Amino acid sequence: MSDERSMEVEGEGVAPPAAAADPTAASSKGAYRNASASGEIPSYDGDDRARATDFANYFCSYAQLYHQKQMLTDHKRMEAYYAAIMGNSEVFRDKVVMDVGTGSGILAVWAAHAGARRVYAVEYTDMANHARKLVEENGVGHVVTVIQGAVEDISPEALGGIEGEDGPVDIIISEWMGYFLLRESMLDSLIRARDKFLKKHTGLMFPSHTTMYFAPVEDENERKTSVSEYTNSMTDWNDFVESTKTMYGVDMGPLHNAFQREQKEYYLLSSRWSELRPEQVLAQPVAVKYLDMCTCTLEEARGLLKGNPGGAFDFDVVGEDETAATEGGGPVGGRHAVVSGFAGWFTADFKSRTDADGAGAPTVAHPSVLSTGPENGYTHWGQQVFHLLSNVPVIRGQTTRINGELEVIRNKDNARLYNCRMRFRTSRRRNEEKKDGAVLMQGPEVEEVYHIP
Ligand code: SAH
Repeated sequence: MSDERSMEVEGEGVAPPAAAADPTAASSKGAYRNASASGEIPSYDGDDRARATDFANYFCSYAQLYHQKQMLTDHKRMEAYYAAIMGNSEVFRDKVVMDVGTGSGILAVWAAHAGARRVYAVEYTDMANHARKLVEENGVGHVVTVIQGAVEDISPEALGGIEGEDGPVDIIISEWMGYFLLRESMLDSLIRARDKFLKKHTGLMFPSHTTMYFAPVEDENERKTSVSEYTNSMTDWNDFVESTKTMYGVDMGPLHNAFQREQKEYYLLSSRWSELRPEQVLAQPVAVKYLDMCTCTLEEARGLLKGNPGGAFDFDVVGEDETAATEGGGPVGGRHAVVSGFAGWFTADFKSRTDADGAGAPTVAHPSVLSTGPENGYTHWGQQVFHLLSNVPVIRGQTTRINGELEVIRNKDNARLYNCRMRFRTSRRRNEEKKDGAVLMQGPEVEEVYHIP
């Protein structure tokens, strides 16, 4: 899932990167932040005003069939879940299933088709009414119970289970993933549901494992578009300052830096949704974070924090050989002459448990994978592309090394949004040279914080 609607709304103003956030903002904005005072998503821990803000910013788009339909027509998504559930009916037969965030109810209906004894389909928004109707009209009303509410507010007793002992639920299915996996922070709700309802040793999570990928990419047309939109906006500002002075006698110049910062964040330091072609990926993608859905903690779900070993990256972008370029008659530097930025995406696996506690859990004999990477074509998640302010040319016969660290951190004022901090250096060496061999050029350290809108 991915709440594209709210992206449009938020696009009108860019939330400041966490690093630049005013430290006093939290107290001055209080409950109007889209986060509880403790930084939690308000569906778990929020007063009425925080919950209302969360509803307006996050949940309300899911109450629209228009948005549910966007997810229902994402066929890569649909195929992966369909194969995972219907392809493993022996695992679902006679089981108690919970669908966390059922939306239209599609996954719950499939679970019933796959032979589940009981399916609890939990949905916060009024989409629950549509789900109830679909469930009834599709003849599985006797199996699926739609419960409207935040999963955080539902007690295991309501399902006949005992908290802290072995939960009542055999399988949790959920489609909770946002842009670059973590955006929307619904993973918190899933973890809380797991710990409250799922059988500790035999329970299954669908998906079972998720992985975040990161890679350098060529995306010059889009990068240049963003840069020229930014430049145009600043030219327009300069005209505005001039004309306001002549027409109205007031100098707007003192606001230049503030406007520039705002526009830079909006045009240059916001990631872009993209459907990259595989050849735009310039080096082997790195798996920056791997989550086992059966064991991952709320702390892990927060993001990729500084010093977390997974966040380190060390890419080699290999320039085309001198001979290859000559023989092919291609442009100097080969096809991929420029690194325009980085891209982030994720995969979700539906497979057997891999944790020691789950050794006795049923085997998922027919694993399924959902990839939102460039090799898999369109999904509504696409990839998030982080354009560099200045590109890095790749030179024929030389390897450009880009090494550094990625942090993926929750936005302080809105616990459903994320910022990405990238710190890296580039260097060039001859293609024949070893990784730590002699360098021809070493660039300065670059550090930027991007917002995922
Ligand atoms: N399962 C559906 C919908 C996925 S979108 C499908 O695969 O098509 C995620 C849904 O989860 C949204 O409808 C959203 O309203 C719901 N949701 C998010 N957080 C929730 C929570 N804490 N409790 C209940 N529902 C939640």
